[in-house]
Amino acid sequence: MPELPEVETVRRTLSELVVGKTIQSVTVSLPRIIQKPDDIRQFEMDLAGHRILEMGRRGKFLRFIMDGVVLVSHLRMEGRYGLYHSSDPVEKHTHVIFHFTDGTELRYKDVRQFGTMHLFAAGDEFNHKPLSKLGLEPLDDSFTYEAFRDVMAKRTTKIKVALLNQEYVVGLGNIYVDEALFRAGIHPETPACELSDDLLRKLHTMILETLNEAVEAGGSSIKSYVNGQGEMGMFQQSLRIYGRKDESCVVCGHPVEKTVVGGRGTHYCPSCQPLKRTSIKRTKSKHSTASSNSKVDGEVRG
Ligand SMILES: [Zn+2]
Repeated sequence: MPELPEVETVRRTLSELVVGKTIQSVTVSLPRIIQKPDDIRQFEMDLAGHRILEMGRRGKFLRFIMDGVVLVSHLRMEGRYGLYHSSDPVEKHTHVIFHFTDGTELRYKDVRQFGTMHLFAAGDEFNHKPLSKLGLEPLDDSFTYEAFRDVMAKRTTKIKVALLNQEYVVGLGNIYVDEALFRAGIHPETPACELSDDLLRKLHTMILETLNEAVEAGGSSIKSYVNGQGEMGMFQQSLRIYGRKDESCVVCGHPVEKTVVGGRGTHYCPSCQPLKRTSIKRTKSKHSTASSNSKVDGEVRG
């Protein structure tokens, strides 16, 4: 499944490929991809004649921002976009084709057929599902340490579970959460509310570092994306903890362990990410006392 850095790479690639083009017509051959409007003919008609002004993104949702309408697209497991000439043969599993006035076509392929598209009046997309309940956007300027702390510091759930909750922070995904927690030296099962300010600040920094590295790595694979295959996975080579079960930790040499947290396979180094150390740091932190802890807990439960 593409994670946030991959979707950002797709957004940047699409920006270069389709911004400025005008849709002449649309062909939908798999109606269930289109979630809004219900009527496929309406979807096709509503898009005809519109020009793509900008490519946006919210979490793992792509936003095709046009004059008057916005198309919100989620790739899910295997959705892919590719730009073709109208004379190119249409490949198998192509479900939606945007025919442009210049003779090119943006084709949406999806072998697993889990991808979705929603069409909204411009600006209205944030008032409705699927974008209405999304949390902080980690690659946006608004993702400050203070905003992150405000969302996380109250949570009694395990930090890994909290980081994967889309209503708190969007698009981190299993791989990047494990990487960021490893870099920050935080055990994935530490309750979020027990993290000291120092550790929470370090985690915020490492989330940004991990995602930005991945975006840059993804950016180098734009060519293969245009060919419609294999745009993912460039960052895999630089993963430090994810997928390294039983291998030596790149920092301390201790064997990497794998467990399950919140139903997700989780990699961590028991030596670099001890469960206790965070609690010890917490009691040392001047901002954290037993009383503030229980008060925060009470607020969450209430
Ligand atoms: Zn280690």
